[in-house]
Amino acid sequence: MSTRRDELAANLAAVHDRIGAAAAAAGRSASGVELVVVTKYFPASDIDLLVDLGVRHIGENKDQEARAKVDEIARREAVTVHFIGQLQSNKVAHVAAYADVVQSVDRAKIVRALDRAAERVGRRLDVLVQVALDGEAGRGGAVPDDVPAVADLVGESAHLDLRGVMAVAPREGEPRAAFARLREVADGIRDAHPDATWVSAGMSGDLEDAVAEGATHLRVGTAILGTRPSLG
Ligand SMILES: *Cc1c(COP(=O)(O)O)cnc(C)c1O
Repeated sequence: MSTRRDELAANLAAVHDRIGAAAAAAGRSASGVELVVVTKYFPASDIDLLVDLGVRHIGENKDQEARAKVDEIARREAVTVHFIGQLQSNKVAHVAAYADVVQSVDRAKIVRALDRAAERVGRRLDVLVQVALDGEAGRGGAVPDDVPAVADLVGESAHLDLRGVMAVAPREGEPRAAFARLREVADGIRDAHPDATWVSAGMSGDLEDAVAEGATHLRVGTAILGTRPSLG
């Protein structure tokens, strides 16, 4: 009988095969590509199975769900929790308490609130600036012209460490072209911030394009956990 563990193991292996092939095609080492498994809508029991299977990075995008779930992870110390969802100032205090990496920072107000919240809970947070590649502010992200200023503000924040940039490919157009643009944005802040080396891009459907354009972190949900349960 096939168990949930077997299913997750097989899906993980398939995703690692895809990453390996994409890295080889790009002349990169697969060890330079970190897999963040996006566990939103799935229970903490799945995270426990994934940790057993060697997963060390998980991503969550809804504060209310993530807050409760992260507490239930059996080996919490074994995983790095990435917050990848849209941030509002009133959620930031919670996120600072359980996230290790916040990938979706996109404006000055959020930077200041997150820095204050991190100080209050006595933690340092790794931060990525989310870039809007479609010029649509609605889905979150700073437009490319605004990214350097947001990055500088993160860099000046006492309790935040700027690690790089993150983006979601626009609904329209070629993901590869969008990820090429993201790479330019990432290169653009590195003079001022040499440690900002992470580029988080690529999901279940477009991870090959992201690897081809230099992504260091992939955020993969569906290809590993299956289709997300509907919210009813
Ligand atoms: C849900 C989500 C993902 C994962 O998407 P899949 O297509 O399920 O792999 C990646 N990034 C963000 C920001 C997400 O919200």
